[in-house]
Amino acid sequence: MSARTDVIPVFVPHLGCPHACVFCNQNRISGQARPASAEDVRRAVANAAFLPRGEKRQLAFYGGSFTAIPIPEQEALLGAAREAMERGEIDAIRLSTRPDAIDEEVLARLRAYGVETVELGAQSMDDEVLRLSGRGHTAADVERASGLLHSAGFRLVLQMMTGLPGDTEEKDLETARRLIALNPDAVRIYPTVIVRDTALCRLFERGEYREHTVEDAVEICAKLLPLFEKAGVPVIRLGLNPTEELTNGAAVGGAYHPALGELVKSRILRQKAAELLQNVEPGSRVELSVGRGKLSQMIGQHRENIAWLCRRYGLSALKISENPEQTEEILLFSVD
Ligand code: SF4
Repeated sequence: MSARTDVIPVFVPHLGCPHACVFCNQNRISGQARPASAEDVRRAVANAAFLPRGEKRQLAFYGGSFTAIPIPEQEALLGAAREAMERGEIDAIRLSTRPDAIDEEVLARLRAYGVETVELGAQSMDDEVLRLSGRGHTAADVERASGLLHSAGFRLVLQMMTGLPGDTEEKDLETARRLIALNPDAVRIYPTVIVRDTALCRLFERGEYREHTVEDAVEICAKLLPLFEKAGVPVIRLGLNPTEELTNGAAVGGAYHPALGELVKSRILRQKAAELLQNVEPGSRVELSVGRGKLSQMIGQHRENIAWLCRRYGLSALKISENPEQTEEILLFSVD
């Protein structure tokens, strides 16, 4: 998705979902209690008409298992979207669904309505994690559905989660490697948030699920992000979109932070700085130079990267400067 794409989201919370995944309460995640209708699609497009238009305007159905919705309802929603496309009010349609709700007949219908991008909730490529999370599909379903979507010419976005029940860091890394092997156009990473009124919340309250904290999520995502980047797979979202409902109490624990992506980028820079400082004598005064736009990421929230690096390497002072001309992300500028 280009930087100039604007998205008109239409939430279809839980529509079509044959299972209740343990972590999911789309009504609370999307902040919307009622699934959208064709009329809501028309209204969303009409409301967006007043907003500045990017290079491409996409209508996106999120929050349910779109292709598992009864066909007449799917066709009503898609029909309203296609009419908007025919009138030139939108340029593309995207939707998210489950990997076990994709087959050739489904894809023929999506193509007929002009859908361009399909997002698959893979979540994990470990069958035990999928089972414990109540997903009701396997890793093989993700591979099969991805293959079908590619062959049919759709753009493929894969979603993965970290910190699910039964998950480990190694399983998350293996999930990322297996998703990369499926050659997606992009991925989204959603570290697990404990949302009120979910099975996961009840497991947590009974002490049967260990919380995936913001710190856990930052640590693992700082390993995942470089894997995807190295493979040339854009990560278009990291962490749940903040909503009023989540911020005001629906997120009872787990990796909910409105700026999770920034925290992860800041951790990656800290790791790069740590490599540069490995052979610096304790007691040194050090200056690191970072490229354009990296200063606040390098310093970290509440200057935590500076404090951590000084502690770790026994530095007497650490200065960070930004050099807009610098092509390297980070350089050791001086050591006294
Ligand atoms: S995670 Fe997806 S498939 Fe599972 S209940 Fe939520 S919307 Fe439905």
